[in-house]
Amino acid sequence: MSYSGAKHQRASARRTPPSRKRTPHRRFSSASELVTAVVADVRGDIFDLKGYAAVGMEGALLTPLKAKDVIETPHGGELMLLPDRIPLLYNLASGRIEAISENPYDPGTPLFPVAAFNSPGYVISHNSAYQETPGAVMLPLFSYGAAGWRRGAFHSAVIPVDDEPRQDLRFMKTEDVVRGVKHLRKALPGNRLRAHLEHCALTYGCPAGKNFFLGRYEAPLPSSQNCNARCLGCLSLQAEGRVHHSQERIAFTPTPEEIADVALYHIQRVKAAVVSFGQGCEGDPLLAASVIAPAVRRIRSRTSEGTINVNTNASLPDALAQLIAAGIDSMRVSMNSFRKPCYEAYFRPRGYRFEDVLASIDLAIARGVHVAINYLNCPGFTDTPEEMAALSDFLTRHPIHFVQWRNLNFDPLRYLGVMNEAAAHSRPAGMAEAVAAVRRRFPGVGHGYFNPPKERFHLS
Ligand code: SF4
Repeated sequence: MSYSGAKHQRASARRTPPSRKRTPHRRFSSASELVTAVVADVRGDIFDLKGYAAVGMEGALLTPLKAKDVIETPHGGELMLLPDRIPLLYNLASGRIEAISENPYDPGTPLFPVAAFNSPGYVISHNSAYQETPGAVMLPLFSYGAAGWRRGAFHSAVIPVDDEPRQDLRFMKTEDVVRGVKHLRKALPGNRLRAHLEHCALTYGCPAGKNFFLGRYEAPLPSSQNCNARCLGCLSLQAEGRVHHSQERIAFTPTPEEIADVALYHIQRVKAAVVSFGQGCEGDPLLAASVIAPAVRRIRSRTSEGTINVNTNASLPDALAQLIAAGIDSMRVSMNSFRKPCYEAYFRPRGYRFEDVLASIDLAIARGVHVAINYLNCPGFTDTPEEMAALSDFLTRHPIHFVQWRNLNFDPLRYLGVMNEAAAHSRPAGMAEAVAAVRRRFPGVGHGYFNPPKERFHLS
């Protein structure tokens, strides 16, 4: 977490009413129940702004954050300054939400919003509240959670959903990763996939790549160069160039032998190991079924240990059938919405339909595969009554086993703009209620963030 100390002087900030409808607020009896706003100055210094409370954004809904809405920012979280944007803050004196464009401690210079990119296992309940300035460029592929200051520490508006330390950086020391890389170079010398994962672990800092070299939890098996979707937030390919992708897509197709050797090495040294196709640095695994199916057969011919998982857009039921026949144990399907117009507006499918995804899910359930949803969340959309009803209807018709609540790494205002064009939305119920509603109605469904090993499957 990078920041420098707060400057504790009070000055009159330039105030303008926010450009969006704001919820009329009751005045708060005491500022102590509110979380102090954090902002950034032109040098990138992040500080708490006395006299103002942090505000959470759920689409058009702006809410001053109270102590009960936040927890201390979990280890590994990062704070980010948002350029071309003005923070929306709650003015304790006026009892109003205002856009504060000028730095009261440095008049004439701008003030910037701050957002938290929280560590895995924490669902954002509110986005950072801001308004764009004219000509603002799109934000890079991160999630932008609301943050504030309280009792001497940064706090985040998040809901914990998974406490497994699978990607906890305190257990992933660089020197240990480097030692693992040297070890694996000797163990799998000519293996191109092993070499590719070195790049992922050491250059991109990919936690899954690091865990392979550390011999922990889940190892990645990127194998596919192609995809039949064009997700707005694709991490490995951004053809329109509006925003930069986070990592390069794998530039070769590993052989079944290379894949199996990496997987077997991990399974043989990790208890309750998971190995996963469908990583951020590749296309969709179903488009590489011709190498993945023989690789899975090769793994299963050597061991019944470990969990073979496929992260996928589930677009091709026939290709999936090949992988199921080969012996995969689980499948995780990425979905931003369970309503066709909103799904298509984000995934922009080419050559497949929303119904094909549902058919793949039904096939996998029928064949005894553990099925999880990689639910890409955004407050102000995911927690609207329309989306919550669609999720509930989906879970009733397609009894999957696990929901992975994942913060969508995409510019929230731009995303909501696209989703509001695709369908109508009413007042959000709150992400906490969205999660709680699933727990209440579908007690047999598991919740979390990570792909569970088969030892912890929720097969009901
Ligand atoms: S399904 Fe995956 S690889 Fe394909 S466009 Fe979407 S994020 Fe990218």
